[in-house]
Amino acid sequence: MAVPVSQMWKVATYVLGQKLRGRKRYPLVLMLEPLFRCNLACAGCGKIQFPADVLRQNMSVEDALRAADECGAPIVSIPGGEPLLHPEIEKIVEGLVERKKYVYLCTNALLLEKHLHRFTPTKHLSFSVHVDGPREEHDEAVCREGVYDVAIAAIEKAIDAGFRVTTNTTLFNTADPDRTRELFDTLMDLGVEGMMVSPGYAYEKAPDQEHFLQRRQTEQLFRRLLNDSKKRWRFNQSPLFPEFLRGNYDLECTPWGSPAYNVFGWQKPCYLVDEGHCETFAELMETTDWSAWGHASGNEKCRDCMVHCGHEPTAVDATFGTLRGFLTTTWLTLFGSRNLPVDESLVPRPTAKIGTTDVQVTLDELAATADVEEPALR
Ligand code: SF4
Ligand code: SF4
Repeated sequence: MAVPVSQMWKVATYVLGQKLRGRKRYPLVLMLEPLFRCNLACAGCGKIQFPADVLRQNMSVEDALRAADECGAPIVSIPGGEPLLHPEIEKIVEGLVERKKYVYLCTNALLLEKHLHRFTPTKHLSFSVHVDGPREEHDEAVCREGVYDVAIAAIEKAIDAGFRVTTNTTLFNTADPDRTRELFDTLMDLGVEGMMVSPGYAYEKAPDQEHFLQRRQTEQLFRRLLNDSKKRWRFNQSPLFPEFLRGNYDLECTPWGSPAYNVFGWQKPCYLVDEGHCETFAELMETTDWSAWGHASGNEKCRDCMVHCGHEPTAVDATFGTLRGFLTTTWLTLFGSRNLPVDESLVPRPTAKIGTTDVQVTLDELAATADVEEPALR
């Protein structure tokens, strides 16, 4: 099973509680970004392009836990930056676990093995390891050779040490569906609890602007990827979300479902787009013009976005809040998804490559300014 029963129960009762209270908008996953600096500089990343004084900042433990209390979401995802570079990340995780949150600590895993001792295995903590493809594709995506091997070794160590380990895979128009299917097999062989797969968001600040997927491409890629899905693949996401990615179930974005808190405050309107910050969660919910966001709004910044953080909360809400969503989820869980026709002309060509030259400069700058630990790579 991709998610512990206790976690499913917590999410189900939370969502039903929100429904009974008549809440139209509620948070499901807090995206807690305790820092922006990283020990990688991936070509598709839109999070690390801040000046050095911002990259040096660490959110305090008190701020992080206050944000979790304010928001009340049952799940907390900790992306970044690289959270393992935060000097007090274990205290943040401890505080969240004490509050019975289910925590996903997202990491590129370069420091995971070395830092495992800072954490205690519990059903409330999962390391969500960034793996964007098999060896060659992953190293290409993160613009650094050797990272895939370090991440795979760290996954094995973390599983051996008794931790829950999931993976997150972001796909661009360089993805080869057949090779990605091989990656799924590899991750299952390793004993990963569940995989989360999402198209990348076209960050304006990302160094590589050429390889983001358009909506129709995303749908055809995911059809090719998930047709003839193997029973042994376990996904750490609602069954409706992959159907949405395949253009087989309509979901509108609910950006309030995954509110983002970082060193600037509560980010408007979502984790992906930065249109300013609010001091409190209540202010974010009350002052954001939600009708201006999501695909149906016609907002250019949302046009091709099918990213997990915006649409997974919608999928969960549909599962527990609508008869169609509930029945479809039940059917998919029991019988799996059906194959869908694929327009091969829109499936990415695996020969496309992500460029690395400019990005390496950014990595060097980061290493010089942001207290980055250098892992041993080949
Ligand atoms: S690992 Fe890559 S995508 Fe993640 S924060 Fe670092 S640079 Fe960005
Ligand atoms: S569609 Fe994407 S970019 Fe637009 S609000 Fe939703 S998550 Fe943010």
